[in-house]
Amino acid sequence: MDFSFTPEENSFREEVRAFMAAELPQDIRDTHFGFRRHTWEQMFRWHKIVAAKGWVAPYWPVEYGGTGWTPVQQYIFDEEAMLAGAPRLRPFGLKMIGPVLIRYGSDEQKAHFLPRILSGEDYWCQGFSEPGAGSDLASLKTRAVRDGDIYKVNGQKTWTTTGQHANWMFTLVRTDPTAEKPQQGISLLLIDMNLPGVEVRPIITIDGDHHVNEVFLNDVEVPASMLVGEENKAWTYAKFLLGNERVGIANVGQNKAELRLLRLLALKRQRNGGPLIEDPVFAAKLADLETDFMALEITNLRMLSSIKPGGDSAELAPFLKLRGSEIQQRTNELAMEAAGPRAAVWEKENSGDAVLDRYGTHGWLLSRAFTIFGGSSEVMKNIVAKQTLRL
Ligand SMILES: Cc1cc2nc3c(=O)[nH]c(=O)nc-3n(C[C@H](O)[C@H](O)[C@H](O)COP(=O)(O)OP(=O)(O)OC[C@H]3O[C@@H](n4cnc5c(N)ncnc54)[C@H](O)[C@@H]3O)c2cc1C
Repeated sequence: MDFSFTPEENSFREEVRAFMAAELPQDIRDTHFGFRRHTWEQMFRWHKIVAAKGWVAPYWPVEYGGTGWTPVQQYIFDEEAMLAGAPRLRPFGLKMIGPVLIRYGSDEQKAHFLPRILSGEDYWCQGFSEPGAGSDLASLKTRAVRDGDIYKVNGQKTWTTTGQHANWMFTLVRTDPTAEKPQQGISLLLIDMNLPGVEVRPIITIDGDHHVNEVFLNDVEVPASMLVGEENKAWTYAKFLLGNERVGIANVGQNKAELRLLRLLALKRQRNGGPLIEDPVFAAKLADLETDFMALEITNLRMLSSIKPGGDSAELAPFLKLRGSEIQQRTNELAMEAAGPRAAVWEKENSGDAVLDRYGTHGWLLSRAFTIFGGSSEVMKNIVAKQTLRL
């Protein structure tokens, strides 16, 4: 099957390019093209600029602040933003809990939370995984007991990304431990991180940084109005959320931008007296990677062009997550090779080489997590076999 953009899509791309040229601050571009990582402040500044334009939640229905773009237009926007050097907007509010609230939340929840996600006023984290519940999420044990107008919550969440910055956590809890199947008896609660009994403890990952946390919940009293949808029905909501998360995690636009950056790096770095890009062994590895990326891109576009706005995107999501995360890892690996022998040195701060901030040992080690979070590669393969290949 062939894929080509329509004239309307091409003119939309021009409009997005003009927006990037006019609105994306130079220091943010310079960070990307200087091979460094965007800061937290740059990401939030960019969120506010895109929100002011009304483009921050393209996948939401128009009445809640979405744009009415088709899935292909959404992809074009993402791709152009990444290629221009913009930071990736954090997905927890915009792509994960936002769409769940729109579909399953109460009118009060929508009225209160959706505008605050759009403006960036609230920052969300995801409280799904537990020490004994990762791939097997349905075995989660965090307990919520209804007591009048509140739920009393006790348990522990783990790997909570950027939980140290979040003021809200969307949390899977067990409300009926007697249910026949583990998938039944799970509910979704919105927990204010400032409530008494919520304790966030850092986990320092293999790259030496603080990205993830443990979150302890001790007798936390959550208002019953913070239950999303029906009690004991959250498995349906969680599957919807994870489907959206996995499409996002394929990061096709970001993958493309990373590959462009890698090509740029290979033009600038020297090997054997010439640009690295002219080294036949390196050039062959890069071509191999770019070819695999093109296959991912086309698959993504085929999927996007076949779904209606607001429709489910879950069918191919596990496949895209699997391939996208593998390609991201390979890009990181090749970029580390391009950075040269000093990339192996641990001390990035004093290296005198900005490239090592992104493509040194730290970045490479962090990239190992791409095939774990949002569902590990092995688990994605199981889902592809069952759901897509119907084996
Ligand atoms: C950097 C990072 C950030 C994260 N952020 C968040 C977050 O913000 N919120 C959140 O809720 N969670 C988060 N996670 C958790 C993530 O979703 C889980 O780590 C992931 O689902 C795997 O679960 P686990 O770590 O318990 O490993 P396990 O489920 O114990 O798996 C261990 C190994 O066994 C394999 N395996 C498991 N089951 C099967 C099977 N049925 N068939 C074949 N192989 C199998 C896995 O692939 C893996 O290799 C994050 C994880 C990381 C590493």
